[in-house]
Amino acid sequence: MPETLNVETKKIKSGSTPDLAPEQKILDEWEQRCHRCGLCCFEKGIDGKGRIIETEVPCRHLDIHTRLCRVYKNRQQIESDCIKLTPEIISQLKWLPKSCAYHKKSEDTGS
Ligand code: SF4
Ligand code: SF4
Repeated sequence: MPETLNVETKKIKSGSTPDLAPEQKILDEWEQRCHRCGLCCFEKGIDGKGRIIETEVPCRHLDIHTRLCRVYKNRQQIESDCIKLTPEIISQLKWLPKSCAYHKKSEDTGS
């Protein structure tokens, strides 16, 4: 598609950047809500009454100093237990810490 390429090139040359796709903007905004606290990356258990128990055992890919995932871009391929947090599943994740930005947003909006 030469015409599209030419338009993109002109925009870049003139100093402006092409608009991000709307889907990418939404994804970026979603990612930016995260506090990077890393609390969701610690193992959880369930007690005899079905309550969630938080442990101090981090995922092997979590850098406990920065609280960032060392394999973030490929986490789903590398760690089969790693769940991608999306708006659709947040309300179902009972183990997500109460302080989690996504959990709080879900409660605030009722979504
Ligand atoms: S692989 Fe998943 S659970 Fe493990 S540190 Fe990375 S984001 Fe957290
Ligand atoms: S608990 Fe929530 S806010 Fe903290 S790192 Fe995980 S997703 Fe981000």
